[in-house]
Amino acid sequence: MKYIDEYRDGPLARAIAATIASEAIVDRHYQFMEFCGGHTHAISRYGIEDLLPSNVRMVHGPGCPVCVLPVGRIDAAIRLAMRPEVTLCTYADLMRVPASGGASLLKARAAGADIRMVYSTLDAIHIAEAETGREVVFFAIGFETTTPPTALAIRLARQKRLSNFTVFCNHVLTPPAIRAILDCPGAGGAGRVRVDGLVGPAHVSTVIGTRPYDACAAEFGKPVVVAGFEPLDVMQAILMLVRQVNAGRNEVENQYFRAVTAAGNVIAQREIAAIFELRPTFEWRGLGELPASALRVRDTHADFDAERRFAVETLPAADNPACECGDVLRGVKKPAECKLFGTLCSPESPMGSCMVSPEGACAAHWTYGRFRTNVKIGAEKAVA
Ligand code: SF4
Repeated sequence: MKYIDEYRDGPLARAIAATIASEAIVDRHYQFMEFCGGHTHAISRYGIEDLLPSNVRMVHGPGCPVCVLPVGRIDAAIRLAMRPEVTLCTYADLMRVPASGGASLLKARAAGADIRMVYSTLDAIHIAEAETGREVVFFAIGFETTTPPTALAIRLARQKRLSNFTVFCNHVLTPPAIRAILDCPGAGGAGRVRVDGLVGPAHVSTVIGTRPYDACAAEFGKPVVVAGFEPLDVMQAILMLVRQVNAGRNEVENQYFRAVTAAGNVIAQREIAAIFELRPTFEWRGLGELPASALRVRDTHADFDAERRFAVETLPAADNPACECGDVLRGVKKPAECKLFGTLCSPESPMGSCMVSPEGACAAHWTYGRFRTNVKIGAEKAVA
């Protein structure tokens, strides 16, 4: 397929791998974090770590929106959905994320809640138009990539004078999470991992551009390379990071220049700013409370804010104590280091959020067998 196959070229991947191996200094250990779940998925799917020399390793970051949503917000969504007048519209991944006491949206639906899977914000708008007797709530999650469609849905609902449509907003921001990962004393603080550089997000950066990473790179002295999601994109980004580390540079570079600019999508940024504002603080699974790291609906659009219309309360809720999603999301542990991985926890029966979404590190490792040695996964090994 044109514009896809070129970025999955096996001989080229092996050539880049050979260059990385020749340029990586033998007695130096390089540890890079891919922030984004899309990169985690690509690294597992295409066996990218298998191509790298043993002294160049990848650790997974918190860039999977389903994974970082704390249990308390899922609990709140379930309570909302159990209200008799509410129809909760959600993306499929969220249905299976474990909530408190073994609950989930899927189980709530089985118990009678009106919860519907949608593919877009427009689906939720259409349901609100068709069923004016229902209070339709869109369960909005995601980083800056999925925020513009939610903003447009609110604008559209106002244009259509829909009084039965609201948004339960859980949109989060990438730069504060990167800061939280890098904001550790020395090479790696307690409970955090040493990171020599970051593979920056692809889709998020099409919206926010590369500039927001400048401050992180300068303040924490870590290079950032924004990369696309194809295997050659990731390989090239790793090579660029190795070269920056070798040269003692801490710059923001853009490997994904076919889609990302320094300024990003200014129209989308304006739309986000018109509808949403910063929350003072927001809880992230694995990272805890992060100041100014998430969005809420502005007062000017309060009539489309489900939290205000239904007085939604987010109560403190603990993760399953046996689940190590928090450590996986900070890159401190690999998925297979969790005792539940592949035994009590699998994509069919997830115990933690990292096993639910295909972008979750545990789900990606399990699906592509990356915890086994010498695994060969047919076509997915094309670049190996
Ligand atoms: S294997 Fe399951 S329980 Fe363990 S960290 Fe991953 S998602 Fe959580």
